[in-house]
Amino acid sequence: MAEIGTDITKAAQLLRDGQLVGIPTETVYGLAANALDADAILRIFEAKGRPHFDPLIMHLPDADAVKAHVCDITPMALKLMDAFWPGPLTLVLPRQSHVPDIVTSGLDTVAVRVPSHPMTQALLRQLDFPLAAPSANLFGHVSPTTAQHVHDQLGDRIPYILDGGATTVGLESTIVGFEEGMPTIYRLGGLGVEEIERVIGPVHLMLNQSSDPKAPGMLKSHYAPRIPLHLGNPSVLLLQLEGKRIGFLGFNLPLRAMTMERQRILSPKGDMKEAAHNLFAYLREMETMDIDVIVAEEAPGMGLGKAINDRLRRASVQ
Ligand code: AMP
Ligand code: MG
Repeated sequence: MAEIGTDITKAAQLLRDGQLVGIPTETVYGLAANALDADAILRIFEAKGRPHFDPLIMHLPDADAVKAHVCDITPMALKLMDAFWPGPLTLVLPRQSHVPDIVTSGLDTVAVRVPSHPMTQALLRQLDFPLAAPSANLFGHVSPTTAQHVHDQLGDRIPYILDGGATTVGLESTIVGFEEGMPTIYRLGGLGVEEIERVIGPVHLMLNQSSDPKAPGMLKSHYAPRIPLHLGNPSVLLLQLEGKRIGFLGFNLPLRAMTMERQRILSPKGDMKEAAHNLFAYLREMETMDIDVIVAEEAPGMGLGKAINDRLRRASVQ
């Protein structure tokens, strides 16, 4: 069984030995391995049950370290690095040839990110290789936002989980690439589209392909809780689902007609950051409730609300 602890030196040694370690980031917990060691990376895919066509994100301590693995960094990419790293932004850039195919699913680009979590920053600085790290959950399931979540799903498959507390952002990173030079968002996430546009101007959205190797974070039924989730107008859904035991996941207001035990409210004060932070943990809690279905309502569709609604929509695909 995986040990949960705060020993960064131990985590570093396991990673040097080609082992897997659960790591905290500000977005969600990652399942990390040496990104330059193809055998170690294979273990990530095995542990998660993740299909090999789904490329991984490489994590590095700073932009300079990133530059050793990518090429052709455009002025626009540089602006984004300057503005948002360390932070919840992943950039897709042309890769250098030493980056293993298994990390990129054979694409000639690689996804890179500089996480801000202090524990993982310290870990990356002890290593002389990048860490490839998808979210530390079984493939297709809700991403983990605490070390215990990682232990619940992968505890019997990995030796160690670094415990850096509950993640602050709580949503996966926003992924930005360049399609013929045009900045393109492949996945909505912890950095709002509006913030990106403030720095580089208008961006394209390229979401919702169901099995595009560029964006398998977009597989239709991703982030799925173990109980069916219906998204929409709560009063309409409550009528439609009459006879079932219903749990409610609301944005800021509870349903008066329902006991609070079966409800989770993402942010009673209507704060989008707080809502994002709570989303995955609440979905996990609701999986353990004595209910048949989850009824969820959308968040307001701006800022992080766009990413929250994206995850809720994916969770609602059966
Ligand atoms: P995860 O690690 O589960 O958060 O998912 C990583 C996601 O990054 C993948 O599912 C892809 O959507 C995206 N990604 C990784 N590498 C690339 C790439 N070279 N081009 C486009 N998207 C990528
Ligand atoms: Mg994932």
